[in-house]
Amino acid sequence: MRGMTATPSTASTRGTSASPMMQQYHDAKSACGDALLLFRMGDFYELFFDDAQTASRVLGLTLTSREKGENATPMAGFPHHQLENYLAKLIAAGYRAAVCDQVEDPRHAKGIVKREVTRVVTAGTLTDDALLDPRHSNYLAAVAFESRRHGQKRGQAHFASSTLDGESASTARQSVSVPVARPLPNERVGIAWAELSTGRFCAAVFPMVELADQLARIGPAECLVSESAPPIPQPPSEKISVTQRPPWCFGHNTAAEALSRQFGVSSLEGYGFGDDDDPAVCAAGAILEYLRETQKSSLDHIDRLTPFQPGGVVEIDQSTRRNLELTMALRDGRRDGTLLAVIDRTVTPMGSRLLAEWLSAPLATMAPLVARHDAVAELVGDVPLVREVRELLDEVHDLERLLARVATERASPRDLKSIAGTLGLLPKLKAKLTARKSNLLAECEGQIDLCPELRSRLDAALGDTCPLSARDGGFIRDGYSADLDSLRELAAGGKQWIANYQAEESARSGISNLRVGYNKVFGYYIELTNAQRQKAPAHYIRKQTLKNAERYVTPELKEYEEKILSADERAKELEYDLFVELRKLVQQSAARLMSTAAAVARIDVLSALADLARQRGYTRPELVEESVLRIEDGRHPVLDALATPGTFVPNDTRLGGDEGNILLITGPNMAGKSTYIRQVALLTLMAQIGSFVPARSATIGIADRIFARVGASDELARGQSTFMVEMIEAARILNTATPRSLVILDELGRGTSTYDGISLAWAIVEHLHDSVSCRTLFATHYHELTDLESSLSGVRNLNVSVREWDDQVVFLHKIVAGAADKSYGIHVARLAGVPRQVNERAKQILAHLESEHLDEEGRPRLASAGRRRRRGDLQLTLLAPSEHPLLDEIRAVDIESMTPLDALRSVDQWRRQLNERQ
Ligand code: ADP
Repeated sequence: MRGMTATPSTASTRGTSASPMMQQYHDAKSACGDALLLFRMGDFYELFFDDAQTASRVLGLTLTSREKGENATPMAGFPHHQLENYLAKLIAAGYRAAVCDQVEDPRHAKGIVKREVTRVVTAGTLTDDALLDPRHSNYLAAVAFESRRHGQKRGQAHFASSTLDGESASTARQSVSVPVARPLPNERVGIAWAELSTGRFCAAVFPMVELADQLARIGPAECLVSESAPPIPQPPSEKISVTQRPPWCFGHNTAAEALSRQFGVSSLEGYGFGDDDDPAVCAAGAILEYLRETQKSSLDHIDRLTPFQPGGVVEIDQSTRRNLELTMALRDGRRDGTLLAVIDRTVTPMGSRLLAEWLSAPLATMAPLVARHDAVAELVGDVPLVREVRELLDEVHDLERLLARVATERASPRDLKSIAGTLGLLPKLKAKLTARKSNLLAECEGQIDLCPELRSRLDAALGDTCPLSARDGGFIRDGYSADLDSLRELAAGGKQWIANYQAEESARSGISNLRVGYNKVFGYYIELTNAQRQKAPAHYIRKQTLKNAERYVTPELKEYEEKILSADERAKELEYDLFVELRKLVQQSAARLMSTAAAVARIDVLSALADLARQRGYTRPELVEESVLRIEDGRHPVLDALATPGTFVPNDTRLGGDEGNILLITGPNMAGKSTYIRQVALLTLMAQIGSFVPARSATIGIADRIFARVGASDELARGQSTFMVEMIEAARILNTATPRSLVILDELGRGTSTYDGISLAWAIVEHLHDSVSCRTLFATHYHELTDLESSLSGVRNLNVSVREWDDQVVFLHKIVAGAADKSYGIHVARLAGVPRQVNERAKQILAHLESEHLDEEGRPRLASAGRRRRRGDLQLTLLAPSEHPLLDEIRAVDIESMTPLDALRSVDQWRRQLNERQ
């Protein structure tokens, strides 16, 4: 997408129509950049020119024309009450939309009704409930590249220049791309991310190489980049809408000033952003600038910039996130079947979002983790408490998003009612949490601010049912405002007056069926049937003739009508003012309410984890600083939850310390190798978000980084060769894993020829063993690798037991010590339905190959070569070429006893022998 300051008003959008309304349209259009303009006309939103064409294509609207002939203007529209629906579709398709509303009552307008763009809706700046998934945070991110190279200006890119492959403004999404130049080792990038719907705003500086991983962690819906910056890497399964902005939006000084003004501080140092060329500040400034431009409302709820501390969390790169299916399934990118889906038992949207955040950034330090485990343990031990707390939480509304709507002045009376309702539940929730032993629960309890004054004010003011629009009136309780009460009395009394008037007139005129009625056009009238109309008194003024009746007004009736109607109107206006006053009151308590919302979210997550632990029989993991893993009867959290109860086969894991750092798991395909190694990574991750784990017991050494290299099938979509991607990721692991990391590798080296693959896998395991010393689980179908156990002290072989029965194989899914003796690939092919003849033929070929490639001991020849390696050998002896037989002859020569002539003869003979062999 292009920046909003661009002027996309092309000749075709200008048109020739010069009516004042179209002039209004063009003015609005030129102020909202490339966003599609939804222009309110009566009960419809209309789009014109190119926007109409786009809308007709994307939204399936019928394309019509506003005028005929030369002035014909393409037009498409939809009824105003379908706005949210259509906005959602436009955003999902990657567009931005500006909503241009009528900002005065058409009845009071002098000339053409005034219209203004009231909001610009973009993927990263949604606040409407209808457009947001309550369980997902919706972040807007900005990326600012540090600029110290080549003397470029601040905020500008220092990559080789590259544009967004010529996409038109309406082709909303940027194509998948990778940086066009390699980042220098010390280059840094500033990333800021904000959620308009909750007011959360964070920023930090990261090494450039982490850009893709950090974006994958944040998962923004939209990302701002400078027009002069290189393309940003896109996560393959989740598209980020990229919006280009002019470079000045990323300028440091402008950013620092704007941010300081927003937060009412003189410097950003208090937030930990002191550097005078801090790219995090540039990115944060770009976000603020964009929000100001798109949001025509207050941004008061964005009241601080939180520095993100990458040190305290486990580093997980984007492919690991994907491979472990933490929040998105590999197959379809959906939430179902992911770890998050299985462990998310939260009952509030705030809790659900917080849990997703915990899962995307597990903790890498002991104290806060122990605090979470203590809290979960206390809740696991008190079943009635968890039930009661969760019942209460179930009633709680999404306080964070409600408050954001209050701050942006988009809250409705119903929103205030929801806040009041939530405040009403807090005393009970707080009471349930008093006198808890765990520090975290006590802290959450202390953080719940009951805001009693606000609550009683809202309760006194708001009626039982509140409308979505504050202009509708009828939601302030009787007795709250004396002025409102008297206006209402007047309006209601007026209606009584009409009834009396009808009775009196009927008596006075002797017309028994005289009726006083009301319609929007004529207001109040007296209606006489045709049979009676001769009797109409002289002072009746005829207003309307119907088929069977005549309608009249009298001066008296008109006078009273005005009083009644204006009382009604004035009551509504007063109600609106009272509503604004209440909204301000809520806004004044926003900070207290936000912190209460954060406490409620944490209580929800902790009690959800406790509920999960109890129901699924999880245990509290013991966390230790040493790099070890000791798991008894561990289960894969997702498969265990989805399988028929009791059918998942639990397995043990012992890794690190005396047990050695590397487990090599061999076994046939489909035996359960991938499941096992993923299970170990997932259990570690769960322990490090504060959850209990599916195991009988677990001792988990805190990991600083978790790497999962699993499969490679989906990578072709990214335009890179599978093997290249595999090696890039392997290189990253080898270069960045530390002794505290956990690495799981599945079928590494599969993307190339067998010998290449085995050699690389072999060398990689050696490197992890000798140089990195991190906990590693390596699943492979290369039997040759099992020989590593004999040459590397820290490697242990495991295999998955298989029972052979009557030429069939049964996978027992049980991990046992030792190397697998067969690969059973042909048996698996049979299970998969490969024709019997093909299977039989494959067996013959296998027998032949095995006789060629096994040594005298029945061991693959490659593996025997590997066994020659001794500690300290610099040269990889695996696959070393065999020696030429002449060498032994040369070694055997006794030079002392040779004459020069003998020597010459020998040389001549060797030369001939060599020539003969060629
Ligand atoms: P591999 O990596 O060895 O090819 P997978 O780990 O993909 O095998 O497992 C294949 C299938 O076996 C899984 O989809 C799962 O249904 C089943 N499975 C794996 N491990 C277990 C287990 N421990 N208990 C029960 N079923 C299992």
